[in-house]
Amino acid sequence: MRPVIATASKVLFTAFLLAMAVIAPALQAQGAAQPPVPTNAPYKDASLPTEKRVADLLGRMTLEEKATMLSGSGWMESSPVERLGIPAIKMADGPLGVRSWGGSSAITNSVNSPLAKVQTTSFPSGVAMAATWDTELVQREGQAIAQEVKALGRDMILGPTVNINRVPLWGRNFEGYGEDPYLTARLGVAYIKGVQGEGVIPSLKHFAANNEEFERHRIDAYVDERTMHEIYLPAFKAGVEEAGVWTVMSAYNKLNGVHCAENSDLLTGILQKEFGFKGFVVSDWGSTYSTAATVNAGMDLEMPGGAPMRAWQSTGQLESNGSGAGWLTADKVLAEVKAGNINETALNENVTRILRVIFESGLFDHPHPGGGEVDTPAEQAVARQGATEGIVLLKNALLKNSGSLLPLDARKLHSIAVIGPNAAVARTGGGGSSLVKPRYAIAPLDGIKERAGQSIQVTYALGVSMEREDPAQDTPEARAKSLQEAVDTASKAEVAVVVVGRYPKLEGEGFDVKTMDLPAGQDDLIQAVEKANPHTIVVLNTGDPVTMTKWLDQTPALLDMWYPGQEGGHALASILFGDANPSGKLPVSLPKKFEDSPASTNYPGQNLKVNYAEGLYVGYRYYDTKNVEPAFPFGFGLSYTSFEYSDLKVSHRKEFVGKVLSDQFLASLKVKNTGSRAGAEVVQLYIHDGHSKIDRPVHELKGFQRVELQPGETKSITFALDRAALSYWSPEKKDWIADPGTFEIQIGASSRDLLLHAPLELKP
Ligand code: BGC
Repeated sequence: MRPVIATASKVLFTAFLLAMAVIAPALQAQGAAQPPVPTNAPYKDASLPTEKRVADLLGRMTLEEKATMLSGSGWMESSPVERLGIPAIKMADGPLGVRSWGGSSAITNSVNSPLAKVQTTSFPSGVAMAATWDTELVQREGQAIAQEVKALGRDMILGPTVNINRVPLWGRNFEGYGEDPYLTARLGVAYIKGVQGEGVIPSLKHFAANNEEFERHRIDAYVDERTMHEIYLPAFKAGVEEAGVWTVMSAYNKLNGVHCAENSDLLTGILQKEFGFKGFVVSDWGSTYSTAATVNAGMDLEMPGGAPMRAWQSTGQLESNGSGAGWLTADKVLAEVKAGNINETALNENVTRILRVIFESGLFDHPHPGGGEVDTPAEQAVARQGATEGIVLLKNALLKNSGSLLPLDARKLHSIAVIGPNAAVARTGGGGSSLVKPRYAIAPLDGIKERAGQSIQVTYALGVSMEREDPAQDTPEARAKSLQEAVDTASKAEVAVVVVGRYPKLEGEGFDVKTMDLPAGQDDLIQAVEKANPHTIVVLNTGDPVTMTKWLDQTPALLDMWYPGQEGGHALASILFGDANPSGKLPVSLPKKFEDSPASTNYPGQNLKVNYAEGLYVGYRYYDTKNVEPAFPFGFGLSYTSFEYSDLKVSHRKEFVGKVLSDQFLASLKVKNTGSRAGAEVVQLYIHDGHSKIDRPVHELKGFQRVELQPGETKSITFALDRAALSYWSPEKKDWIADPGTFEIQIGASSRDLLLHAPLELKP
């Protein structure tokens, strides 16, 4: 796959952008002929309701000014209208921290780019944060990111990403929250609340069915209505209905034949009418393909705009990669209004939505001048907590004549060999627009050395170079030498830690991962090290699942640290040495091989169409219903302590939700820490509907709680479920339906470790 910006033109384009950054005033209609705006104009009065202010301001705008607002003025700035004091909304990527806004990711991620100088806290990838199942923490992450946005004088962060992990090879799976719509929705809502609570504008992306990078501008996702509602839309619905998200970003791809940015079924029908969205839709960068159809569909703000957009157009890349830009420039919008293809009401509505957010977010009254610190100790602490809680202990087998390998006992240990292409380098995130440049990043080797101190000798060997990273290391001789060094290093130490995985060139935005197999030579490395040292701990440092069949049976201990952000090395060391108890749980099933995954036969599609033929059967909904055993199931994660679940009781009551008397079910149980260490357990609630009139997956996650427990401590927890939690989407009735009858509540420590069951009666 071609990257968004081809490397050849990168340099030229960078130079152009730099020039533009200096001379890039907004392309905006000047209101010289307009009467001056009175200082007491109602829209300036912060005490008036937003809708009044919007109506007043809209009434003062010329047609030209309105048209101007539909496209950006720069790479990441919307168009201001200075006459009326309407500010430009200044954006930054997202979602895993604040990234440079100076140009496309190909430019700002390149080491030598002067635009790459923005350095901020690199938070764990979305999938790592999802593995924490910690909504409170994700909300604090959103808040921390928003504080950095403000400190940098920006107003909007382009995240969270809530697209579902449909295929294990999607290049951007690491950005999202895994395979389950409920978990994704809870975390998306938490992130948005954290951001909006600071008066910063988030953007819920990418709407919708953006689940592969293959030909992402041309691919047409065919998804049936029920699957859309039950799998791919819930996180967007929750973001709108529960968090009142201020903006949504339309996706690059087509959905059922129409590009998302001009898909009125999606943007008007579902987003506005069904969900009640009142904010604005921003296009993904270069994802517009028409003028009137886009405006009429309810796509409000085209990005990028102004000089950087024109510079981008002039490179010829838009044609080659299939993206589109420059369709909502003022001249084009005005021409379509004149031709009668856009009526002024539609234009007014689009501008209204943008203005509403400018007022509602506080941006109009309290602009963000910037200043203040980024990467503060508090922000670093959130990143570290996320990285630590997100690490999943996948295996910790009992060794012959002793306990399990983990946690390491620092008092008894004398030597550790740290090995692998991801051991000495901090691989904080995947590639593309989410990759944050941190001020510092702790590699696994750094973190282990720091924790080991003077009394434990820490040795290092590369083992195998990362595929396509260093041509000098990519010869058969160099590889053989590296492997031998790793074997020697491992055999001399008491314990070996092998850190394997991918890096941004192999996993990132703009291309899918080629294979689920680990990059070249890494399977061999694990096998060789395990042979040399039976006390080997394998650590996965990647976003997408990997094939483990060659070595898993022989591996005594296995951890998944995902892309952990800047604090990864500290987090890993604290788990290895037992300073923290592992509490991460998989937010995504890890299949044994790609062919086992539900969409493998419908990916990447044919003739630029991808049929989501597996329907609802995504992730564990597939593995558990069709009895396909994954390597590790959804929700799974081990601990250094143990937990006991008991006393599940389900009760029913009627409660007023607004004016409607509604069913509410309470499922309560006890969880006890039966081990000798303090730790957290993620208790999961699934519902099983064995009686419904239509086909349903064997179970669906509808609740979870992270519970911190001291040794011997017991806590009671309660889940509240409403009718919606029992419902499926009926395309016939265009509504959520729960068929009366007996459901089963399943409480488990993973989707395949169901420990308590109880019936739930739904009366007609
Ligand atoms: C990505 C978005 C990102 C935007 C701006 C696009 O290529 O898909 O997620 O926010 O660029 O960088």
